[in-house]
Amino acid sequence: MRKVDVAIVGGGIAGILAARKLTEDGVNALVLDKSKSVGGRLATRRIGDGRADHGAQFFTVRTDQFQQFVDKWEQNQWISRWFGDKHARYKATNGMNQLVKNLASGVPHQLNSKVERIERSEEEYVVILEKGERVQASLVLFTPPAPQTLQILESSDVHVSDQSHQSLNQITFNPAVVGLLTLKKEDETRLPPEGHKDSDLPDGIERMVDNRVKGISDERIITVSASPDFSKSFYHYEDEAVLAELLKRIEHLLPFESLVSQQLKRWRYAQAVHFHDHPFLNVSEKEAVFVAGDAFLHENDQAGRTRIESAVLSGLAVAEEIKQLMKRKTST
Ligand SMILES: Cc1cc2nc3c(=O)[nH]c(=O)nc-3n(C[C@H](O)[C@H](O)[C@H](O)COP(=O)(O)OP(=O)(O)OC[C@H]3O[C@@H](n4cnc5c(N)ncnc54)[C@H](O)[C@@H]3O)c2cc1C
Repeated sequence: MRKVDVAIVGGGIAGILAARKLTEDGVNALVLDKSKSVGGRLATRRIGDGRADHGAQFFTVRTDQFQQFVDKWEQNQWISRWFGDKHARYKATNGMNQLVKNLASGVPHQLNSKVERIERSEEEYVVILEKGERVQASLVLFTPPAPQTLQILESSDVHVSDQSHQSLNQITFNPAVVGLLTLKKEDETRLPPEGHKDSDLPDGIERMVDNRVKGISDERIITVSASPDFSKSFYHYEDEAVLAELLKRIEHLLPFESLVSQQLKRWRYAQAVHFHDHPFLNVSEKEAVFVAGDAFLHENDQAGRTRIESAVLSGLAVAEEIKQLMKRKTST
């Protein structure tokens, strides 16, 4: 059985940044992610010869702590400014997913590894994967969306205090449905020059992005993100029905005679409606089990909503707490 100091469930930006910080500090951390790539909701799909971001489209910066990271990423050419003068919107080079892949370089991680539950084994934990594999760890950090974390904790052999259970239970997310429409390369859309539109859109449509204009795709792939209300209403419909409804609402904005292909992406947990007002949570004083992620906001968070920045700050804060805990453990 593989043994590590810290097992981190989830390789989204929160989990990867926590692991990166712990690894830099000499802690033996391992990220386990159920998907075939790191990134989570920083997601980019390859379609033909093109690419499309179908999770987060960009990020903004409100804190000095995040700005320091963003400056380094900009120097590395992992990201660049996309649009917005007052509040710059940053995009990632070759798609949002590539940013997390860059951050995961040198960070121990294991993909296709869905965590089912954890068990206590004296002073340690055993993390049990769907495939039956086991990983032993002194401490476990969860970073999936809180409802998914709660599900794993409820089938695990660990004590979750009533207060922590209540805090996790009150975090809820809106779903999102996202259409990916490939048009002929040469066709013009009626989107603004930066290839992004999030105002004066038809009811139910939150955002439209031309990934070719955004600079991440050779093909003209348009990402159409539905609003939370549309997404809730249509989440359980067949793909064709959802896509037909999306197309009907935006037909005046795109030349549909040139539609080459269409696909749908569903996110059950896209952005949190109710969040926790601390950047991480310890499930109980008796356990070395922590929970973090984008729905864990600093008390004085300026935006007051979940986003890439809140995921980053949560990952960094919990890594610092874990580092201090490990230090205290080794000195006693
Ligand atoms: C459609 C959409 C649009 C968005 N737009 C924006 C935007 O424009 N700007 C912005 O700032 N934010 C946006 N967001 C939000 C942003 O993407 C998230 O806040 C951020 O990516 C969350 O990062 P995270 O690491 O906390 O969680 P996630 O990225 O969700 O990472 C969690 C990881 O846990 C893994 N996982 C789950 N269960 C298990 C398990 N049992 N075992 C192992 N691994 C598991 C998942 O595979 C995933 O990789 C958007 C999100 C969506 C879905």
